[in-house]
Formats: sequence, C-alpha cells, structure tokens
Amino acid sequence: MGEIKTYRMYIEGKSCESASGQWFESYYPYTGKVWARFPRGNAEDVDRAVNAAQKAFTQGEWPRLHASQRGALLRRLGDLVAENAQALAETEVQDNGKLIAEMSAQLRYIPQWYYYFGGLADKIEGAVIPIDKPETFNYTRYEPLGVVAAITAWNSPLLLATWKLAPALAAGNTVVLKPSEFTSASALEFVKLVEQAGFPPGVVNVITGFGAEVGDALVSHPDVAKVAFTGGEMTGQKVYETAARGMKRVSLELGGKSPNIVFDDANLDNAVKGAVSGIFAATGQTCIAGSRLLVQESIHNEFVDRLVSFAKAARMGDPSSLETQVGPVTTVPQMEKILGYIDIAKGEGAECILGGGRATRPECGDGWFVEPTVFTGVRNDMRIAQEEVFGPVLSVIPFRDEEEAVEIGNDIVYGLAAGVWTQSIRRALTMTDRLRAGTIWVNTYRAVSYMSPFGGYKRSGLGRENGQEAIYDFLQTKCVWISTAEDTPNPFIMRLPGDD
Ligand code: NAD
Repeated sequence: MGEIKTYRMYIEGKSCESASGQWFESYYPYTGKVWARFPRGNAEDVDRAVNAAQKAFTQGEWPRLHASQRGALLRRLGDLVAENAQALAETEVQDNGKLIAEMSAQLRYIPQWYYYFGGLADKIEGAVIPIDKPETFNYTRYEPLGVVAAITAWNSPLLLATWKLAPALAAGNTVVLKPSEFTSASALEFVKLVEQAGFPPGVVNVITGFGAEVGDALVSHPDVAKVAFTGGEMTGQKVYETAARGMKRVSLELGGKSPNIVFDDANLDNAVKGAVSGIFAATGQTCIAGSRLLVQESIHNEFVDRLVSFAKAARMGDPSSLETQVGPVTTVPQMEKILGYIDIAKGEGAECILGGGRATRPECGDGWFVEPTVFTGVRNDMRIAQEEVFGPVLSVIPFRDEEEAVEIGNDIVYGLAAGVWTQSIRRALTMTDRLRAGTIWVNTYRAVSYMSPFGGYKRSGLGRENGQEAIYDFLQTKCVWISTAEDTPNPFIMRLPGDD
C-alpha cells in the first residue's frame, strides 16, 4: 500500500488537528495494513466543536434561513453526494472493508435521504388549538432543539450518519458528528460536500477519536441538546445514563438478534436467498442480521442443505472487486469476538455444518476474514442464540408450529427486526401481529428506506429513524397563548369555559 493518508477534523468550517496533537490509525481490512490516520480528539476538541455548533445555531445565517431554504441546501447536498458517489464508496471500501458492490448501491441511495428530508423541512406545521378560554388565541409551533450530537457505529458509517444528519438539519438544528474510531474517513470526505453545498460554518462539525475520550465528552457537554446514537447495547446504556444527567433528548439504535422464520409453505428458493442475505450480506455485520434462522421441523433438513450449498458458493476476497460476495470483517477485535462466539457455540454443543473459523482461502490473503458459518442443533437458550455476534455466523433453530415460532422468536432481549417466510396471508398477518420487533419483513429481508420508520423494540433502542416521524425526534413543541381581551381579568380568579 502507498502513502498513509492524513485526515483532519472539521470544526466551524475549518480543517484542524486535535488539541493534543495526537493521532490514531485506520486499517484496510483486506490487507490488515494502515492506510490513514486521524486526529485523536479529546474533551477540548469536543468543547470547540460544540461551541461552534451552538454559535451557528444562535447567530449568523443558519437560524435566519426559512425552512424552504434549509430544504434547498439539503437537496443540493443530496446532488453532491450523488455526484461523488463512487469516490465515497471507494473510501468506505478502504476504511471499512465493505464490498464495492454494496457501497456503490448504497451511495446511489443515500442522496434520497437528503431529498426526502429536504422536502419535508417546510411541511412541518403547527396547529391552531380551539382553546376553551374566552378571548384567547392558542397555537403550537415546532422548533429545533439546538446542538445534536450524532454518534455512529463502524458498520455502515455514512448511511448511519445520514439517518441522523438529514432530519436533524431539516429541522434546523446544528450537528457535531463523531464517527466510529474504526471508520472515520467517509464522514470527513462527506463534510467537504456539506461545505460545498453552502451550509454555513459550524452547522455540521466532525470530530474524530475514541468513545471514552470524545464520545463521552460530547454526550456530557452541557450545550448538547440531543444525542442521536447508533452502537452497541452496553454503550447505548452508558450514553442514556450520561444524557439523563443533563436531561437531554436521546435516540438509540442498538443491537439485535433477529429471528428469520421459515414456514413449510414458503417459496423455499426465495427463503434460502433471504436467509443468506440476512446473515452473510455485509459479512453479517449489520444490526438487522437474521442471525437466528427458525426453520419448521418438516422442512428443516432439506432447507438447511439448500442453504449450505448456496452459502458455500459465496465468493470471498477483495472487497474492491465487483465479483466478491463476502468481504472481510472490519476490525481485529470484531474478528476475535466472532471467532470467540464460534468456540462458545461449539462448546455449547451446537453442530457446525459450514465454516467455523478464520478464512484461509488464498483469495483472502492477510485480510481479516471469517468463513460463513452455520450451526444447527441450536437451542434458543444457548449464548450463540441469545447474544449478538455481529458477523457471518448463523444459528439454525427448529420449530414445530406457529405458536412455537412466536415463542422462540420473541424469547430474546432484543426487538429490532424479524423475517417471516410463508405463502399464507393469514399466517403472515398473524405473525406480523405477534412478533415483537420494530420491523417485520414478510417474504423479504433487509429492506430499508428513507420513507419507512426504523428502530427497535425492547433493548434494541429508543425512537425511530427514517420516515416522517423521524423529524419530530429533532424538534420540540412550543405552545403560544395570546389574549385578545381588552382588560386582563381578576388575577385571583381562574376563568373557566362559559365565564364571561
Ligand atoms: P459501539 O457501541 O462500540 O460504538 C458506537 C459509537 O459509540 C462509536 O462511535 C464509539 O466511539 C462511541 N462510544 C463508545 N463509548 C462511548 C461513550 N462512553 N460515550 C459516547 N460514545 C461512545 O458500537 P460499534 O461496535 O461501533 O457498533 C456495533 C453495534 O452497533 C452493534 O451492536 C450493532 O447492532 C449496532 N448497530 C445498530 C444499528 C441500528 O440502527 N439499530 C445500526 C448499526 C449498528
């Protein structure tokens, strides 16, 4: 690999190094080699970034823009992302090890978030309340919250940032974005486009560094009004606690252990593809992974055979090749975690019928690859069925009937998503009703859209991203009372409906 690229943070419209002058490195997961370095931020940098965002929220051009003008800026940003899609996709491949095939598609889709929320910006209307007091005019208006801290995970850096930035900016807030320390590059490439689109300095700031040094300082900063977080459950809990001390708004997009349920009346060819995409797409590093595959007993063996032959044929290797179907794991700690869970499953008595270790195929070179792995004979109370692995490891669990599928599907602390494969409309509707998750897919899996609300039940999180309701997570309601009375009534008597 060539020279190591140096990135700088972005505060108040300027690139800058960290206050400490320290750096940290990022690796290309396909080669395991350092490819870029980033400023290692600390509380001082957080303070500078939040002050810049607070200043941009209260002074200058941004608070004076009307909603249609903010919408136009967001649409311009969407155009710029579309124009720079290929370069952004390549950055993500390098920094994260994501497949170019997946990233090219994702980058063609990301602009839609800026168009959608740009369009929504000037359609947020308050109400006139038919108030029950004489000579009184009462109405509501929605106002932005202030500085939003957007903190993201490493698995889909730009997409996760977009889910926060588009509604936050449409609502009129300013943002400090902290990408994961493992994948900071795309945020810093993207913020150049924010500047090019014409957003005033300080409206979007990007600070780089570690969770304990930058993330925590950001969540605790008194001028941060809201934290929009995507990450693991334990970190989410910590963020929630810290934010509670400052009485801040919080939305949390956390982990999952989603059931993907195949009934014997399903179109099995489609269900096999759905099961494979649920766990091996994005190398299983997705919060919505269908990592518990529930298969009806009557088709269990046939289905597993078909699944294994399909998964066996998946091409691993260079993420920058359009031919590759399963890429590397993004970080060494994540690879070790996945391999650790494979050992746990073996120790628990699950049967490994595919993969089961680090990939040593020649096309994987020195990269951080784990073989697509399938375990059968899994019971839902095993750790491999209860804990999020976040990698290409599938647990297959047999079930008897609908009742048992619901019971196993819901017997988990998470509730992010679930899949159901059936040709019966009655069964599809019953299952969508009874499964406790924020997203249910029937005869499809992994579909998301800027239009459709996304978020978790139970320990998978709080709040919703995407769809119209997402913007209200970045707004607060103000209620205005105006008296039209000539005289102010007796201050010691409460006036009731019907009183003159
Ligand atoms: P993580 O919790 O380790 O880190 C997430 C972010 O939080 C990073 O930017 C990190 O630096 C920061 N952070 C760490 N400690 C912090 C602290 N004390 N205060 C503030 N910020 C802190 O998660 P990860 O390993 O990057 O991502 C994987 C997890 O994210 C998985 O559990 C996955 O399911 C989840 N995820 C959820 C969704 C969703 O939409 N529900 C999407 C993607 C990923």
